[in-house]
Order: sequence, then structure tokens, then C-alpha cells
Amino acid sequence: MIVRTIAAVREAIAAARARGQVIGFVPTMGYLHEGHLSLVDRARAAGAGFIVVSIFVNPTQFGVNEDFDKYPREETRDAALLADRGVDLLFLPAVEEMYPPGSQTRVAPGAVAEPLEGERRPGHFSGVATIVLKLFNITQPDLAVFGRKDAQQCAVVAQMVRDLDVPVRLVVADTIREHDGLAMSSRNAYLSQDDRVAAVALSRALRSGEAAVRDGSRSPHAIDAAMSRTLSDFPAVELDYLRVVDPETFLTPSDLDRDLLLVGAVRVGRTRLIDNIQITRAATPASRGAQE
Ligand code: AMP
Repeated sequence: MIVRTIAAVREAIAAARARGQVIGFVPTMGYLHEGHLSLVDRARAAGAGFIVVSIFVNPTQFGVNEDFDKYPREETRDAALLADRGVDLLFLPAVEEMYPPGSQTRVAPGAVAEPLEGERRPGHFSGVATIVLKLFNITQPDLAVFGRKDAQQCAVVAQMVRDLDVPVRLVVADTIREHDGLAMSSRNAYLSQDDRVAAVALSRALRSGEAAVRDGSRSPHAIDAAMSRTLSDFPAVELDYLRVVDPETFLTPSDLDRDLLLVGAVRVGRTRLIDNIQITRAATPASRGAQE
């Protein structure tokens, strides 16, 4: 079922809850690919009996010079893909439904929203946190699934859920990739044929960082440099950042023997791509249970 109003979402979800179904929620911006659809499967596997997907290109998370206007939209195809995947409810609100005239309040995320993406996209994570909290309040799901592809977003949402006592269980799903390693993204649609070939540089660079860690690199700087060197083999690709970070703070790690995250952002032509890979160490008391 497709609904466009908050009232209709609440009604459909209340009926599902009255039937005793566990509500699973997957927020997206649409132009769906297998990465998004894998989140639906993950919601089902995590126990959801009634799955709600939202498609909303959220204006408050785009900067003034970003791609809000040209972000790809294809409602009919998306709706068919979700129906095929067994999604129960598709919420497709208009901007005025989510931000009616007079809407003012914004969530101010914490320190985890400051480095990397936060620094390059001022206000982005406030927009993300605001829309995610609104969607949580509208759908009141038992569980919600997010992709690790947007690792800093996952951290911002998890922090918000803790800090604001939001009663939802967060599930984080692995990144789905194309055959050459490029992380699936709606923005890959912007890539020309040549850009598409060059875009593999980002995942390759992250892999070279992983190899540097496994080979015993002893400084964050050396790991970052290894990733930048790999990227420089691809002259068509412009470096934004490639860093090894602490997966909780997104800052330079103080201990390379703990879990690490390799994060990167590049520009290929006019398209900005982000990706990351995790390096998980043997479970320590601190890390055990931290992931699902
Ligand atoms: P978006 O439509 O880009 O806002 O993404 C909606 C959700 O899908 C977010 O939780 C993303 O992290 C997740 N997602 C995007 N790309 C992928 C991917 N390649 N694999 C897994 N999840 C993804």
C-alpha cells in the first residue's frame, strides 16, 4: 500500500500493531537499488512482520550547492521493487507534509556529527537527525534498519536514539557492492561511462588501507598515505578524504589494535561518492555486543 500522509501511515501501522505484528522501518531517499532492498530483507530477518519503507528526498539535509533538485526520483519503479520484496507500506510524503509552513525545530546532533562529512556538509547531519526522528515519531517502529555504507549517519542516529530515549532497536546492515567493489548508491546514476570505470578507485583505496593495517602499519598517517597513493593511480578521481578513524568518534584512532574504520569521500566528475570498510578485531569486552 502507498500512502502520502502522516495520518494514513499512523492508521495503517496502528492496524498492524493491533494484529500483533512487529513493525520494521527502512528510511530511504528512493531511486532504489539492491543495497536498499537488502535492508528490507534485513528488517524481515530481524523479526519484522510489517515493513514500512519511506522514500523522501529530505531538503534539510542538502546544502545550498548540493544536488537536491537533481537527485534522481523514480516513484513507480521504486514502488514496484518494494512490492516485489514484500514491503507492506510505502510512505511517500511531499515536502509540505513533512515540513509544513511554520515548521521550525531541528535536532542538533553531537560531536560525532562534526568531523568528515559533518565538516564538509554543514547542517547535513542536523537535517538527517531531524528527519529520522520525525519518521520515527510517525512510524513508531520496533526496529529500524540503516546501511553501514553511511557509517557516520549510523553513528549520529545511534547517538540520537540513546540521548533522546527513542524506543527503537537499530539494526545496521552491511554494504552491498557492484561486482568491481563500488558501493551501490543512488548517486552512481550520475556517473558517465568513464566515471563509472574510475569510481572503483574509492573501494580500491580503502582496501589498500586495510592491507596496510593488516601488514602492521603503525601510524594512522601511514595508513592514510597508503590509501591516497592508491587513489593517485586514478587521475580522474579527486580526493576529498581517506582516513583511518575510530568507529565511535570518527576521529584519528589512538590505538590501531582496536576496531577501526576506513572512511573515504571522492569526486568523480561532478559526483561525490562516499564509502567505508570496517576492520574488526577479536572481540574485547568493550566491543562485544556493540554490533548487531
Ligand atoms: P539513501 O536512500 O541513500 O538515503 O539510503 C537509505 C538507506 O540505505 C541508508 O540507511 C543507507 O545507508 C542505505 N544504503 C545505501 N546504499 C547502500 C548499500 N550499497 N548497501 C547497503 N545499504 C545501503
